[in-house]
Amino acid sequence: MNESTNIHPIFDRLLQRKDREKRLQQNSKVLWLTGLSGSGKSTIAEALERKMYNEGFFAQVLDGDNIRSGINNNLGFTIEDRQENIRRIAEVAKLYLNSGIITLNSFISPTIEIRNFARQIIGKKDFIEIYINTPLEVCETRDVKGLYKKARKGEIKGFTGIDSPYEAPQNPDLEIKTVDMTVEESVEAIFKYIEPIIKL
Ligand code: ADP
Repeated sequence: MNESTNIHPIFDRLLQRKDREKRLQQNSKVLWLTGLSGSGKSTIAEALERKMYNEGFFAQVLDGDNIRSGINNNLGFTIEDRQENIRRIAEVAKLYLNSGIITLNSFISPTIEIRNFARQIIGKKDFIEIYINTPLEVCETRDVKGLYKKARKGEIKGFTGIDSPYEAPQNPDLEIKTVDMTVEESVEAIFKYIEPIIKL
């Protein structure tokens, strides 16, 4: 081949997502855990992150602790702010995705519309919706952060499940019913589902 026509040598092109996935030996995906407050999203995401690490995968939890307190610390809970909250989370997850990293997103994301918005930003084929299905009564009994008590007393307005709706996913990729399962069983079930998908 004439050297002057060979203008796209391999070392000259921008690194692609697939290059990074190859380096990390995984297919990156966005795991989107949705469910009521106290349903178990964070507990499961953290245990799953550890499990994936032990199994040789590279994953990162995104949750209220590292997102709401940082990049989204100027947002509240109005409809507009919830929308902007999810938009930024989805954009961050997309950056990770293109870096070859799997994210475990743990956010209530209460409406079908808001999850569709996230799915649209991330891309349908990379968005895995996991419904952490725990009945309201159970979440309220757990009341991990004492928020249900406050919401019932009217000290918190617009609390999901109390005076703000939660719309369950109609067709999630996976559903985890935490009342019938331990945390370990929940993690195993998710891992079993995603392993063939993320394995390169
Ligand atoms: P969320 O992130 O959805 O608000 P958390 O993970 O903070 O919920 O709280 C869930 C609580 O439920 C934790 O105290 C956890 O120990 C408990 N729990 C009981 N069974 C399970 C289960 N199978 N999966 C996840 N959490 C469970």
